[in-house]
Amino acid sequence: MTDLSAVEGSASVLRIDLDALRANYRLLRDRVAPAECAAVVKANSYGLGAREVATALLGEGCRTFFVARLSEAEALKGTLCDDSRIFILNGLAPGSEARCAALGALPVLNSHSQIANWRALAKAKGRALPAALQIDSGMSRLGLSPEDAIALAADETLHADIDLHLIMTHLACADAPERSVSDAQLANFQAVRAHFPDVPGSIANSGGIFLSPAFRCEVARPGVALYGVALVEDAAAIRPVVRLDVRVAQIRTVPAGTGVGYGLTFVPDSPRRLATIGIGYADGWPRHLSSVGAAYYKGVRLPIAGRVSMDSITLDISDPAADTLAEGDFVELIGPSQSLDDVARDAGTIAYEILTRLGQRHTRIFTCERPTVLKYEG
Ligand SMILES: *Cc1c(COP(=O)(O)O)cnc(C)c1O
Repeated sequence: MTDLSAVEGSASVLRIDLDALRANYRLLRDRVAPAECAAVVKANSYGLGAREVATALLGEGCRTFFVARLSEAEALKGTLCDDSRIFILNGLAPGSEARCAALGALPVLNSHSQIANWRALAKAKGRALPAALQIDSGMSRLGLSPEDAIALAADETLHADIDLHLIMTHLACADAPERSVSDAQLANFQAVRAHFPDVPGSIANSGGIFLSPAFRCEVARPGVALYGVALVEDAAAIRPVVRLDVRVAQIRTVPAGTGVGYGLTFVPDSPRRLATIGIGYADGWPRHLSSVGAAYYKGVRLPIAGRVSMDSITLDISDPAADTLAEGDFVELIGPSQSLDDVARDAGTIAYEILTRLGQRHTRIFTCERPTVLKYEG
């Protein structure tokens, strides 16, 4: 195991490999070139830390960022440089337009009301305000219908109010290259784009980058692939970014017939050696992993024994290969033995959900060769 001496006293350690993050960015950037590769840093960079992630990506030349909410853009104030821009995917809640304009962030305008509110502020200021326009090309989530967008394009006064930096859409099935719906969405999107000549387009999220080159447009918007999740076979070179190790709080041996944990749902039929570790559903470790998931010690699978509690989990460590595991040692929850995808599959969910719910209680270490190891307690 990598040296964890820097984390003496920590019950759990979430390590974020900024070199892997940067390598993933370069891989995606090279794949979408000559299109621009932006970075989606919403939800605190999928739970990893938006400021640290954005700083690392700025170092790779990334200059366009996407968040979901205005508050997330505000949290990055002072981190992004003057020549970078930040888009707010969900657009603006009514009444927050002035805050957004003051910050210099660019809302993604999804609806007629969002457009009207942004235009009203532009008129009040007497100048065009920057924004993106989202088209619903077939996902029925956010954005104007193609017909409404084409009607909007015919409004000659639009450009006096809105300086359109981007026209975008989002794919419903980007990670399923075998499905033809993405092609239909692309066609719908291109039909609208013809009415907005000279406005750069954006369609590809991580999955979209691995579809045909037509999906790259002028700006790609990867999120999860940056953070180490390889959604499709073609993305196999994506490097894992996250590692989670949790310390053993207590070890005991119980006789056959002893119930373990809430509900006493685990009752072994032979004596067992058990280890309790300090992570639970309050740390985003899904309760669905009760008696299903596992942790690893030196590559040995240690099954979860009974229910996942709020702050702890009990592992069955009876495997003789785990004999040397002692109180105070770390076991691996996410790492070389168990990927985010493995955990997600066991929990009946997707890697995105595991990642974004990891929570704030782990000691976070951002590792990189250069410049230094940054350590955050939290
Ligand atoms: C979250 C999101 C992305 C990034 O998606 P990934 O699948 O994580 O790459 C891109 N575009 C929009 C509109 C999103 O909501």
